[in-house]
Amino acid sequence: FFESDQSAAQAFPNEIKARLLANENPFGPSAKAKKAILDAVDKSYQYPFAHFGELVNKIAVFEGVKPEQIMLDAGSSPILKAAAIHFTKKGGNIITSDPSYDDLPSTAEGFGAQIIAVPLTAEFKLDLDGMEKKINTDTKLVYICNPNNPTATVVDTAKLKAFVERVSAKVPVFIDEAYIDYLDDPQSVTLFSAVKKGQNVIVARTFSKLYGFAGLRVGYAIAQAEMVKTLDAYTNGAMSISATSLMAAIASHQDREFLDDTKKKTQVSKDFLYKTLKEEGYTYIPSFANFVMFPIKMDGDKFVSEMRKRGVGIRNWEFNKQHYCRVSIGTLPEMQLFAEAFKQIS
Ligand code: PLP
Repeated sequence: FFESDQSAAQAFPNEIKARLLANENPFGPSAKAKKAILDAVDKSYQYPFAHFGELVNKIAVFEGVKPEQIMLDAGSSPILKAAAIHFTKKGGNIITSDPSYDDLPSTAEGFGAQIIAVPLTAEFKLDLDGMEKKINTDTKLVYICNPNNPTATVVDTAKLKAFVERVSAKVPVFIDEAYIDYLDDPQSVTLFSAVKKGQNVIVARTFSKLYGFAGLRVGYAIAQAEMVKTLDAYTNGAMSISATSLMAAIASHQDREFLDDTKKKTQVSKDFLYKTLKEEGYTYIPSFANFVMFPIKMDGDKFVSEMRKRGVGIRNWEFNKQHYCRVSIGTLPEMQLFAEAFKQIS
């Protein structure tokens, strides 16, 4: 999500005390994941194939799909990139939302695709009707991020399922569910159900968020077996994830105790943030993920730099002629640092 690896490195300088700019999860990884990493070290001279297969099988059994329907990689980013290149390398357009997660569309744009970004609704949700209307004969892919980044909003599940059923009969739909684990009942919201019905959809997941694996790098997608085979050709698959990360993922996949505890801690920090914003006379977009977006009363770049001077890293957006701040949910001490800095400049 940065223009280059160099600019990414510059965005995370050492002076940041509260790192609230990349939707990371400071409550992870789990104790079981950490133990698995230590146990794995002695065997790290071995290639990771067996662990790769073990994680694929574990996810396949849990989700009720065939192993061939799972594309596993070093985070979900390589999967987004593979899809962007595959679908748009011969031109055409991609339908997305504005604002939404930009990685897949911007990669596609780099390969010459036209990006059709449909503004969000007045409730900051994806405008599914508006997106459907924009599909034309040049459309190669529809990108849906649910919950949406940067707004942390979710669309109505029944509406999304009906949309996907209709649209995927015409063009493939990519559903990015990076933050779905933060919902109360992800199993009822996920579009894995559409894959199981044979629809032309690719549903991406990541261990980077609720599992706290952003630095360990494990993600996957579930799609039709043919599609997985096609997209796999664009990545290094089993050769790109370290055995240590795979073993950590095997140890923590669906570790309910850890996941529920992390959600609770995230909620405590989020409630503190909501209270801070209300006290300072600010509104916010109710969040269904580990970040919150709210309208600010000054120029976004200035806001970011003033917060940065106070050791707090956050990000800014501008849309509909309004500046917004997106704060990732950190530990309570990090949110307190945010509050102190915010009160000085708000
Ligand atoms: N999708 C969304 C919506 C994201 O916000 C991110 C990262 O912030 C990613 C995908 C990529 O994450 P990763 O490559 O760590 O799985």
